[in-house]
Amino acid sequence: MLPYATISDAELFLGRTLTTLERLWFDYSKDKSDYFLYCHNILFLFLIFSLAPLPLLFAELSRISGFERHKIQPKVRLSLQEMLRCYWDVLRMFFLVIGPLQLVSYPSIKFIEIRTGLPLPSAWEVLIQLVVYFVIEDYTNYWIHRFLHCKWGYEKIHSVHHEFTAPIGFAAPYAHWAEVLILGIPSFLGPAIVPGHMITFWLWIALRQIEAIETHSGYDLPWTPTKYIPFYGGAEYHDYHHYVGGQSQSNFASVFTYCDFIYGTDKGYQYHKKVLGKLKDEQLRTGERNSEKLD
Ligand SMILES: [Zn+2]
Ligand SMILES: [Zn+2]
Repeated sequence: MLPYATISDAELFLGRTLTTLERLWFDYSKDKSDYFLYCHNILFLFLIFSLAPLPLLFAELSRISGFERHKIQPKVRLSLQEMLRCYWDVLRMFFLVIGPLQLVSYPSIKFIEIRTGLPLPSAWEVLIQLVVYFVIEDYTNYWIHRFLHCKWGYEKIHSVHHEFTAPIGFAAPYAHWAEVLILGIPSFLGPAIVPGHMITFWLWIALRQIEAIETHSGYDLPWTPTKYIPFYGGAEYHDYHHYVGGQSQSNFASVFTYCDFIYGTDKGYQYHKKVLGKLKDEQLRTGERNSEKLD
């Protein structure tokens, strides 16, 4: 809740006029508690888990050629029932674990001092903090994910997430409840180390989930803006991790590729890519020779 009764009070306190965004934030948040603002994440996550994978579901069912040629594992087809079952399981996890976790984790947000007041952070501040959060999450997630691939971790916990050997958007948050809890730590670590504004925190939680849905989409779409992010793994990168399955000792990182490169856990993937590349070249050459013969 803001400590100012009116916009004039806020302007007096800041010693300047409020920007349009700050006025909007003032109007929206002035009579809402910090706890209620924090709990907005529950609604955001519900909407993201439900809506963001929908275009991928339609792509999978309609088999539009624009999408079809970018499907990473074209031989694997999931029915509508299978995809809805995945969504239903995610919803169950959402209402039993993710939602309640948000409701009770507010003291930690208060402790790390996520602020809700004015001034709002600049666009640069938000951007830099988000990059820091992604880097910290990626590094921590890499090691937790690697641990989850030990015999015990995989059999007891992580095998649930690997049920989908060809992932779909809905399967991004599909995991054992313990994994959902454990992977909350890397998401929380960035804001704990570099605390920011509640809006930055909302953006972080939302973007991290959207990123995970893209990574699990099953489509390597060439026009996604994430293609321009340096060292970004993307759908094809993480798809290989699911494709190999339980034995996978490759591509553990959740966002970027450099951890797997540095710690040598991308060798299987690099070899796979090389073999696929050779195969494609061969097919291309055979196709060319055949068309020459026909001429
Ligand atoms: Zn895994
Ligand atoms: Zn995955």
